[in-house]
Amino acid sequence: LKSNDLSTFDQYESEVRSYCRSFPTKFQRATGYRMWDVEGKPYIDFFAGAGALNYGHNPPEMKKKLIGYLMEDGISHTLDMASEAKETFLNRFNDVILKPNRLSYKVMFPGPTGTNSVESALKLARKVTGRQTIMSFTNAFHGMTLGALAVTGNKFKRKGAGVPLNHAVSMPYDGYMGSNTDTLEYIESFLKDSGSGISLPAAVIVETLQGEGGINVASNEWLIGLSEICKRFGILIIVDDVQMGCGRTGSFFSFERCGIIPDIVCMSKSIGGYGLPMAITLIKPELDQWSPGEHNGTFRGNNLAFITATEALTYWETEQFAEEIKVKAGLLRNALDEFVSEFPELKGEARGIGLMQGIAFEPGIAERISKASFERGLIMETSGTDSEVIKIMPPLTIDRDGLAKGLNILKNSLQAVAG
Ligand code: PMP
Repeated sequence: LKSNDLSTFDQYESEVRSYCRSFPTKFQRATGYRMWDVEGKPYIDFFAGAGALNYGHNPPEMKKKLIGYLMEDGISHTLDMASEAKETFLNRFNDVILKPNRLSYKVMFPGPTGTNSVESALKLARKVTGRQTIMSFTNAFHGMTLGALAVTGNKFKRKGAGVPLNHAVSMPYDGYMGSNTDTLEYIESFLKDSGSGISLPAAVIVETLQGEGGINVASNEWLIGLSEICKRFGILIIVDDVQMGCGRTGSFFSFERCGIIPDIVCMSKSIGGYGLPMAITLIKPELDQWSPGEHNGTFRGNNLAFITATEALTYWETEQFAEEIKVKAGLLRNALDEFVSEFPELKGEARGIGLMQGIAFEPGIAERISKASFERGLIMETSGTDSEVIKIMPPLTIDRDGLAKGLNILKNSLQAVAG
């Protein structure tokens, strides 16, 4: 593709199976929260690689470390072999993240993606408990392979692949039956009822905030209640922190706000720091019952990702980074509330926490806003079953000026769509 006009995009579309309908241009370079296409047009990034770029594009310190490592012929791939880069990451992760949070987990490398982490968690839960069923939630998103898809709620993705509810049972998420806790009562009665048709699940897999599902925030009360039910019934609780981890909701782990201690935690996306593929599964030590080689995969030893992942932990050495996220989250929420009341005809509802927020609309509106924003130089996706929510997730490192500029474009787009 030589030029950036849409006619070449039509050609692109006919020749490849993977092209982007929402953002029809060709991107070339990026730094921080800014991206440029081949024509030199600048964009503000309110998407951040769906959470893979929490520290922004090409963060300078990580880039420097990576270049330095490459220049010294640092080993790039070691599969399961030990390496200095891997050891350094593990030690730093323990010192900077686990110890201060008084958490004790073994770190497993399940493969390069979030889906790999989810698969490893589901498999381990079944192995450890000897049970088969996994409980998941309405609108949940956990990945695209058969196991992860079986616990994913999106009907379109499930139906096309013919994925049945094999060994998975779907429960209503927080708020989906009215008040905060009645979904918990429903779950509990379901588990108690021997005639409900399901055997006791091996695990519950939950996102503390559903990103792909439409920015649905579970309350602290609900998450604590769910964790208590799991304890009472001897069911493992898996928190999928693939998208909400690494600071997205204001703390390194998304579950810090409610204080629950998951049995297994899935992480990927920003764990590598630089947008490099990497995933980890955190396992309570007593649950580490894998036999050697029982869960393996070639790309589990990406040392380039270990280098940037280690550098990324620097952000978490003090409270400052988390504090800044909270301040920016407050500014973002104020702006969204203002927009909702400024354009009542759009009937929007602001939602989300941290730098994972958005506005829900009636179907059809969010996509028009996303398109209008793209034309004005703002990259912003939609989420939810009917793409009814605009999803604002800038790099966490965005400064106030960048946030204000992006929000200004959003305001103009809302104005345009409101007519
Ligand atoms: N879990 C959650 C909560 C996710 O948001 C995603 C990706 N959007 C995944 C799992 C799957 O991760 P990946 O695309 O890296 O396989």
